[in-house]
Amino acid sequence: MDKRPFDIDLAFERIEPAIRPWPKAALFQLAEEGFASAFEQLVACIISIRTYDEVTLPVSRALFARARTPAAMNELHYEELDGLISASTFHERKASQILAIARRVAEEFQGNLPCDREVLLSFAGVGPKCANLVLGIACGEPFISVDVHVHRVTQRWGYVHASTPEKTLVALEAQLPRRYWIEINRLLVPFGKHICTGNLPHCSTCPVLDMCRQVGVEAHR
Ligand code: SF4
Repeated sequence: MDKRPFDIDLAFERIEPAIRPWPKAALFQLAEEGFASAFEQLVACIISIRTYDEVTLPVSRALFARARTPAAMNELHYEELDGLISASTFHERKASQILAIARRVAEEFQGNLPCDREVLLSFAGVGPKCANLVLGIACGEPFISVDVHVHRVTQRWGYVHASTPEKTLVALEAQLPRRYWIEINRLLVPFGKHICTGNLPHCSTCPVLDMCRQVGVEAHR
């Protein structure tokens, strides 16, 4: 097939309806349900690390039903918090990290987690992916969050050429129009999970096949 030049506007326009039947990425789903504060998004992102969305969602909802502010979280004993998030991978470490964040937010920031990247990255357990997601979803600030799906899909398109998610982030910051900086994660997480899958991507029914370079794709459906 002759490929047309990659058109990012057209790609996102086509991907939006294609992912509609699939569940939203966990943090975007939680924000829609009203768990949209920087603190809630940060806690949910920590819970989501190495954990399926199918687990992250009910665990986050159960925790927020019990405590959804730094002050309320501070009231929890470690054992109770650990029990509430026990279905999440590395829950013991995450419980300590969440409590430490709640404590610092109460002591240093009068109970309000600021939309400040340096502050977010200063917490144990918080890396660029979570910091940028929080800033994007909760604070509405343009930051790109690159996870395995965003990384894999943009390489396959031939849109960026980078060996790690960290390098993909740098490449996207140089190339992706700012209006898509938050959107790219919202769109490409479900797209990568259900259409441009890790193994055997669904190229034959993919809405961007006519412009995707299919870099590294040896077999597909
Ligand atoms: S054509 Fe294939 S490799 Fe390219 S985005 Fe679609 S599913 Fe992924």
